[in-house]
Amino acid sequence: MIPYGRQDVNEEDIQSVVEVLRSDWLTQGPAVERFEQDVAHYCGAKYSVAVSSATAALHIACLAAGLKPGGTLWTSPNTFVASANCGLYCGANPDFVDIDPRTYNLSADTLEEKLASAEKQGGLPQIVIPVHFAGQSCEMERIAALGKRYGFTVIEDASHAIGGRYRDTRVGSCAFSAMTVFSFHPVKIITTGEGGMVLTNRQDLYEKLVRLRSHGITRDPRFMEGEPDGPWYYQQIELGFNYRITDIQAGLGSSQMRRLDEFVARRHSLAERYDTLLREQALTLPWQHPDAYSAFHLYVIRLHLDAIGKTHRQVFEGLRQEGIGVNLHYIPVHTQPYYRRLGFKPGDFPQAEQYYREAISLPLYPSLSDSEQDRVVQALKRVLS
Ligand SMILES: *Cc1c(COP(=O)(O)O)cnc(C)c1O
Repeated sequence: MIPYGRQDVNEEDIQSVVEVLRSDWLTQGPAVERFEQDVAHYCGAKYSVAVSSATAALHIACLAAGLKPGGTLWTSPNTFVASANCGLYCGANPDFVDIDPRTYNLSADTLEEKLASAEKQGGLPQIVIPVHFAGQSCEMERIAALGKRYGFTVIEDASHAIGGRYRDTRVGSCAFSAMTVFSFHPVKIITTGEGGMVLTNRQDLYEKLVRLRSHGITRDPRFMEGEPDGPWYYQQIELGFNYRITDIQAGLGSSQMRRLDEFVARRHSLAERYDTLLREQALTLPWQHPDAYSAFHLYVIRLHLDAIGKTHRQVFEGLRQEGIGVNLHYIPVHTQPYYRRLGFKPGDFPQAEQYYREAISLPLYPSLSDSEQDRVVQALKRVLS
């Protein structure tokens, strides 16, 4: 079976982890700091806080932004559940903004309309989380401008998008947001096994994120109530978590960062090959916004079902039977049973639902060889014919 995605770990990556294992630190220590600096420097952000997953990163980013019980968070329905669950962790109410039918990202037009009507009805969000679907940046300049006008905080869920660019900025620079979140799960662009990061240019957010990562504890006298009792002293000044990542994982992360550009370049050349090989098929191929250079986490095709004469499910199962590990990103979050119990229902976000009925993610990862890719294309042509 050719999977839809997989990590690429080479001998250098392994050596980098072994070095950490031979060192004095295993939990959060100097390797985490180095990894944080590597990513912040690459992206052009001032601060970065590495944590145990992107899910943890989204949670503390929402808390740092001041999301409170009863607040509101908007995100895309075409995402992994974690992009919306972070609002629920804070006791806030998630809601969704339907997608752009070309990029499958949260639509800036729809966001603008929804904000205008929310303003009249008194339901403006505190936080909006644009998700850079498949690695392609959302229209950040427009979203940032709406954030200023309506007073919400923008947190980018860039779990798919490290190594991507928006205009002349790297995703993660936070030029158009308060914070950006990355995931280092093995199917993503680079990996630490499990892991995530929050980037920001704001010192106040950075200091808060660092505390929330580790129990809400500080050792900095500037933040303490009263004077420290002595050199051993720390204070818990708010409720935080244990969301730390290990030095072992960070060793892998720093090594993977050195390979990031090569990974994204290979993803692009495979995507271009798919574009060429699939041009004549009854499919919509990924559309690239001129402002975005995608990290190409996913290569998603949409089936022209009328022309194909097979159901979406038949094509999907046909590919699996051919040994092609296709996948589907994403089941619209608002249609999940848990979200239906919150009051959402099918029909609420028709673009995301229409997309879901036609989309398939083809295998795409740096070590996918041209001949394996040819096998995918041949299998797809057979199934479609
Ligand atoms: C993978 C992913 C997450 C969660 O990442 P973890 O590191 O597994 O917690 C969040 N949002 C999106 C869009 C993702 O793809």
